[in-house]
Amino acid sequence: MRRIALLGATGSIGKSTLDVIARHPDRYRVVVLSANKSVEDMAALCRSHCPEHAVMGDEAAADALRTALANVPEVTVSAGAKVLDELVSSPGIDTVVAGIVGFAGLRPTLSAARSGKTILLANKEALVSAGKLFMEAVRQGGATLLPVDSEHNAMHQCLPKDSSGRPEMSNVEKIFLTASGGPFRGRSRQSLHMVTPEEACAHPNWSMGQKISVDSATLANKGLELAEACWLFDRTPDEIEIVVHPQSVVHSMIRYRDGSVLAQLGQPDMRTPIAYCLAWPDRVDAGVEPLDLVIAGRLDFEAPDLEAFPCLTLAQQAIAKPGGMCVFSAANEIAVAAFLAGTVRFTDIDVVIESTLAEVKLSEPQSLKAVQALDQAAREVASSSLAALSSGS
Ligand code: NAD
Ligand code: MG
Repeated sequence: MRRIALLGATGSIGKSTLDVIARHPDRYRVVVLSANKSVEDMAALCRSHCPEHAVMGDEAAADALRTALANVPEVTVSAGAKVLDELVSSPGIDTVVAGIVGFAGLRPTLSAARSGKTILLANKEALVSAGKLFMEAVRQGGATLLPVDSEHNAMHQCLPKDSSGRPEMSNVEKIFLTASGGPFRGRSRQSLHMVTPEEACAHPNWSMGQKISVDSATLANKGLELAEACWLFDRTPDEIEIVVHPQSVVHSMIRYRDGSVLAQLGQPDMRTPIAYCLAWPDRVDAGVEPLDLVIAGRLDFEAPDLEAFPCLTLAQQAIAKPGGMCVFSAANEIAVAAFLAGTVRFTDIDVVIESTLAEVKLSEPQSLKAVQALDQAAREVASSSLAALSSGS
């Protein structure tokens, strides 16, 4: 029986994970659920999944959850990052699903790495912001890192594994990282100034949380994923080619030195990569509709439009600088939140990332404290450039 801590339980990844887990009560047991502030959603999840612990982002949310769960005494409710660190590192947990969105997910995921857990990584921002530190923690802690992100999961599936179960890269020539192109594929930059958060979140193929949906629309998500692939598979950006594939059926590909290209195909449904990671190296039913290739019909591929979507080039430049992706990701989080709140335009997102990257003094952070300081510095710079943009100066 695998004992699981699910971080970000009320989100899109959290709910898909619980759906797969509920199909296999003989294999998986949810021991810890965490969320930020969504008390009602969390109360419902606690009633249906009966974890031993529920951890909320702050005391006020924990108090409200305690009240809501007054008649469910089996669940211990607590709050805060320290408690979450202790729980994910405890011997009672063997698997941690990192499903928190953004930089907030770094600390507990790093704790899971340091304590040698099996980590199912959806929270790409954690890896991207602290790549070197995080990968060192995985190695030193003896953790097993399995990518949930569909593209990286596809790469993992297409790679042979060495005797310790890690992906074997020696014959790999190129990785093709596929991108759907998002809801604005084919649009000019000029036409994107006035798009609304609703339009940006209406992804043609995937149903996801708001932040990653906007990231998919700007292609910042593909920039984050490029950095993610470099860390996970020990590649440089020039060994990874980004290909737009609007149908989201091929989830990524590996080209070997003999010219063979291996691809993983499937429905655009996160339960497939989640089930793969939960069961690895075995396979379990994920509840996903089988892929019908005749209905899918066509598989198209095209180059990304770097003019309409400058975030991709900005990410490529940031990856080459120490600490660059920590700043990229922090500025992006701040800008996306402002766009979702209606205070800046869609096309201001890349402007803010670019000016933040130019202004913040970059260096490779060597500790969690240093990553947090760099993230904070980037947030402050990004916030003031947003304030200037929204006041029209
Ligand atoms: P979401 O917004 O739907 O859910 C986010 C979850 O994180 C919620 O449970 C929320 O309560 C929790 N959370 C947010 N801020 C927090 C904080 N400060 N402290 C503690 N918990 C906090 O997001 P999502 O779409 O499920 O994405 C989660 C992560 O997975 C992201 O990093 C995203 O890039 C990645 N991912 C998502 C998908 C997808 O299909 N949704 C696919 C690939 C990767
Ligand atoms: Mg992805």
